[in-house]
Amino acid sequence: MEWPVYPDLKGQVALVTGASQGIGAAIARVLGRQGVVVGLMARSLEKLEEVAAAIRTEGGRGFPLAADVVQGEAVQAAIQEFIREVGPVTLLVNNAGITRDQVLLGLKPEDWHAVLAVDLTGAYWVTRAVLRDMLKVRRGSIVNISSVVALTGNPGQTAYAAAKAGLIGFTKSLARELASRGIRVNAIAPGYIETEMTARLSEAVRAEYQKAIPVGFFGTPDDVAQAALFLLSSASRYITGTVLNVSGGLYM
Ligand code: NAP
Repeated sequence: MEWPVYPDLKGQVALVTGASQGIGAAIARVLGRQGVVVGLMARSLEKLEEVAAAIRTEGGRGFPLAADVVQGEAVQAAIQEFIREVGPVTLLVNNAGITRDQVLLGLKPEDWHAVLAVDLTGAYWVTRAVLRDMLKVRRGSIVNISSVVALTGNPGQTAYAAAKAGLIGFTKSLARELASRGIRVNAIAPGYIETEMTARLSEAVRAEYQKAIPVGFFGTPDDVAQAALFLLSSASRYITGTVLNVSGGLYM
């Protein structure tokens, strides 16, 4: 894949959640190649270290921050230490997410709460932890990874779609709060992307989903990383509060 170079990104500090694999790891790696110092957050330190090592191999700087985005105090502590070491975070990607698919009557309360806690409340904790310093430097771009199902709905995904739709409301409200302070906030709504999250689909379901995608194939994590890179860079300086749909036309 061809990657544009966005010179304004070089030297900035980013934090990417859910950076240990899939879409988050792809975004973290491309930021590393643009000369961004990248904080990598997820629960698995071992996997984060592998991504950080890949970033180093590609000439960049990646710092593993092992934390669960649901644990507000731990998130705050890890991010404060990171900021002390490398400076204010000016690029934030709220990407950590989980699914617990089940039709509503079968959906256990603990699964409902887990999805909302990671996919929506996690963004609340992480964003608050970086925002004070971002406001001091009056510069920033925040990208929240939502999903097309927030826009279309999907059977078996009431919790997931509610959390991801919540993230869009969060994005638009925060974009309005911060627009005059030099900080933009946008969301990306990916469609079906080849990661561990979709690797669990049966062949039959996969074939059915594929038929519904106008371009005819699943996207890759790099397809989402291209969109994130654009929204993080000043090439999108006049874009805030938007939802960029990266779905091969699944939603239009
Ligand atoms: P994935 O491969 O399952 O990766 C999820 C990432 O989130 C991992 O790095 C995981 O690391 C991290 N994570 C999960 N729970 C966490 C927690 N409590 N605290 C911190 N980190 C946590 O998923 P993906 O497909 O790359 O998806 C990334 C994002 O895109 C998600 O928000 C997902 O909802 C969204 N999305 C994906 C698709 C798709 O088709 N793949 C489509 C639309 C939207 P640990 O397990 O180590 O914590």
